[in-house]
Amino acid sequence: MTNRTRAVVVGASMAGLFAAAALADSFDEVTVIERDVLVGPVDRRGVPQGKHLHGLQAGGLRSLSDLFPGFEDDLANAGAVRTDVQSDIHWYLDGCLVKPEPSGLIGYASSRRLLEHIVRTRVRALPRVHIRDGWDVLDLTTTADRRTVTGVRLSRRADGAAATEVRADLVVDASGRASRSPQWVTELGFAAPEVTRVQVDITYVTRQYRREQHHLDGRVGTSVGVFPGSLHGGTLLAMEDNTFMFTAGAVYGQEPPMNDADLPAYVEGFASRDFADFLKTAEQITEPVRTRFPASIRAHYEHLADFPEGYLVVGDAVCSFNPVYGQGMSVAAAEAVLLRDLLRADRARLAERFFAGATEIIDIPWAITVNADLRFPEAGAPPTEEAKQFNAYLRHVYQAASTDADVGAALLRVIQLVDAPDRLLEPTLVERVMRALPGT
Ligand SMILES: Cc1cc2nc3c(=O)[nH]c(=O)nc-3n(C[C@H](O)[C@H](O)[C@H](O)COP(=O)(O)OP(=O)(O)OC[C@H]3O[C@@H](n4cnc5c(N)ncnc54)[C@H](O)[C@@H]3O)c2cc1C
Repeated sequence: MTNRTRAVVVGASMAGLFAAAALADSFDEVTVIERDVLVGPVDRRGVPQGKHLHGLQAGGLRSLSDLFPGFEDDLANAGAVRTDVQSDIHWYLDGCLVKPEPSGLIGYASSRRLLEHIVRTRVRALPRVHIRDGWDVLDLTTTADRRTVTGVRLSRRADGAAATEVRADLVVDASGRASRSPQWVTELGFAAPEVTRVQVDITYVTRQYRREQHHLDGRVGTSVGVFPGSLHGGTLLAMEDNTFMFTAGAVYGQEPPMNDADLPAYVEGFASRDFADFLKTAEQITEPVRTRFPASIRAHYEHLADFPEGYLVVGDAVCSFNPVYGQGMSVAAAEAVLLRDLLRADRARLAERFFAGATEIIDIPWAITVNADLRFPEAGAPPTEEAKQFNAYLRHVYQAASTDADVGAALLRVIQLVDAPDRLLEPTLVERVMRALPGT
């Protein structure tokens, strides 16, 4: 008989790896089960979105530095590009350029595959964590009364080898947007969470290029956001190995071109000349790849009155955000910090306490995304009166940010999930916004 405690995590993508680091703080053993075979910084089948641009918000970087001390050094050593978010990247929001000035808000630009590899390397180095890759979690095992999860059943991907079981005191589902948790908990006799869905019908098309010194005058990137009446945008960002990644994104059924020859004419419509100028000389090094993303999806686990003991759901499996705002990884990192801190205090009523905390983490980025998305008539669902008023004020903030760098810094700190949106409503800031508007 042993008293050793074990947690199992389903999925070794970002949310699963972050959760494993959090759990290693309180459990004797943590087993992460991933269906893909994991080798180096390469794209993989289980994470099709990984081929597209993945921005890590400054807020997410802070959570990761908390989970993995020295994380910024890991990024820099692996070749991620250190940036001052405001001066090194040009941000066009509703067509207004945020005044580029040094802000001290620091980010790192890298491919998603490299970022995941760096995190995985840190997690693999944790003595209590073991990643079991190439194995598919089939379902949960439970006590006879089906109220407590006791582990998972798995089979080997390569040959479908007969199912084996892994026992656990806690199972954490980090299997992403297609999570089977709603189905699994219903099969145990619990209610499935209600789901909120906001249609966005986005298509991303991504290509990579060789980076040369003169590109963007040496800056790290340019990003042009979509807004009502302008359904096409994109981000060009420098990353490791002297490359640029360019992800073009179009919403509500519009499509960026897959044909390379059509791209220069396509970017002529963008608010910034940077894309057209870049394409004149840039050497393309990858074929275009395309991914479609129909809708943001939020599962309201926090509303469930009854939930299996020994079971949690994290990351995209709880909330999968419109990717345009680059929030998913940062939210997953904040959830992992929450999980670590809750476990340090007490294991009682863990699911209830975790889902209550996670929903607070999700609320702000969800409001940022959904308020922005419901501005589009194509969304087919008008925003609330309150959201309409806030959106009208945000238009003023965007305009003011193009001439007042401090307003720009405050805005970027909100978008980068460092400060709450309330910051933009502080009287001194409102005054600056109004003062900066043309004709005032
Ligand atoms: C096009 C696109 C662009 C994005 N851009 C950004 C961005 O710029 N910034 C940002 O922060 N976020 C972005 N995101 C979101 C980001 O990719 C996710 O939030 C992040 O990967 C965390 O997701 P996750 O780990 O919860 O799930 P996923 O990344 O989907 O990973 C789930 C993992 O579970 C594994 N798995 C699934 N089922 C099983 C099973 N039964 N057994 C074993 N393993 C299983 C899968 O193989 C996979 O490894 C983007 C998303 C999309 C779609």
